[in-house]
Amino acid sequence: MVSIPRKIARLVAFALVVSTIILVGVNFGDWDLRAGSKLPLSADKKLVFSHKSSKSPQQIVEENYKTLQDILRRPIHEPKTGNLVRPPSNPDEYDRANATMLVLVRNRELGPVVRTIKQIEEKFNRKFHYPYVFLNEQPFTERFKETIKKHVSGATYFESIDKAIWEQPKSISVKKQANAMQQLEDENVGYAKLVSYHNMCRYYSVNFYNHPRLQQFRYYWRFEPGTDYYCDLDYDVFKFMEMNKKTYGFVIALYDVEQSVRTLWPRTMEFLAEHPDYLHPNGAYDFLVENLQNPHKTLIANGYSTCHFWSNFEIADMDFYRSKPYSDWVKFLDSTGGFYYERWGDAPVHSVGLGLFEDRDKIHWFRDIGYKHQPYTLCSNRPSCKGCETADFTYKHLWDQNCLTNWWDYEMSEDQKNIY
Ligand code: GDP
Ligand code: MN
Repeated sequence: MVSIPRKIARLVAFALVVSTIILVGVNFGDWDLRAGSKLPLSADKKLVFSHKSSKSPQQIVEENYKTLQDILRRPIHEPKTGNLVRPPSNPDEYDRANATMLVLVRNRELGPVVRTIKQIEEKFNRKFHYPYVFLNEQPFTERFKETIKKHVSGATYFESIDKAIWEQPKSISVKKQANAMQQLEDENVGYAKLVSYHNMCRYYSVNFYNHPRLQQFRYYWRFEPGTDYYCDLDYDVFKFMEMNKKTYGFVIALYDVEQSVRTLWPRTMEFLAEHPDYLHPNGAYDFLVENLQNPHKTLIANGYSTCHFWSNFEIADMDFYRSKPYSDWVKFLDSTGGFYYERWGDAPVHSVGLGLFEDRDKIHWFRDIGYKHQPYTLCSNRPSCKGCETADFTYKHLWDQNCLTNWWDYEMSEDQKNIY
């Protein structure tokens, strides 16, 4: 049941997004990408900053972190949907979902990728034998392929990425890019000058789901070399997604480096001014425009909270990315050059896309998947999670990066909160 105040809050948030679209579309149509941060905030722009609190951001950080820990300390087991699909007695004859494990990886990351695969196999895939797709813009070495095959239970596809798709488009002005990257470097934005990192973020935002090999699949579980998985999964997570009509599953949500996405939101508002019908009426707007915990981030990102699902783990339905709203939008984003003149990450792109174009009830927080990618760990109070400390999310100096509480407070229905 949705309570009345929650409904009203949603209506207000929706109205704010719509009014921002109109205002930004009118006022900020011709932003110079690099000048974005220097623009003074107009009185109108304040409309974006909808959330009000008498508490200081520091108080909010601590309260939100405590809320997160309280949530993680509650004993949980599995989603109580009543339709979990258990491991088959013979995984080789199992009628799997149309899904694959997915990793973009370099040959030199063989050691870390094997370490992670061993954990995924032990906790999940030895029971279901889903295939793996390995992507790389370089050819995989024989050693890489042979070693991987020794550690996986499912089929393996070693795929290269077309250089023309991976590399930055010719339309990018090299001079403008160099200046912009120097500015980001001066602001200590990680990977600012690493073009391959920009290529990676763009690829995961705009292209991967159209890779010829991935076209045969609907769902993927993205993982990264060097990440850790702590908990046994005794149900088919892909069938969970399918049977419960979920589009996207995540474990961790964080704020982003605000300088890396200065114009992502204003550009998106320009796009939406042309396509207001793409907005989903049950979008996750509050998550996207919150400005209480890190108001400076929302300010520098020109209206976007920078909150995002951390995409180094994600289980998702690629048909969402292939749908018209998402694919038209990222095509537009790509045409603005923001993947190179700024350092837009695939995580904020996926998250803004989902928050605007998808029903938030189709986004699932996998609290039962214990996970670590330095320097954050998601560890619930679950008997089958081994090797992680319950609720030990991160170091104190990073507490302000927690955005999970916003997802919980603003976007989850009571049903979603009680799913575990
Ligand atoms: P971070 O988590 O944001 O620090 O980024 P990572 O360095 O972990 O990169 C994200 C993912 O993309 C990882 O799976 C990397 O292995 C992969 N990756 C990053 N850059 C490249 C690249 O240039 N080529 C390939 N093949 N993979 C890359
Ligand atoms: Mn990583």
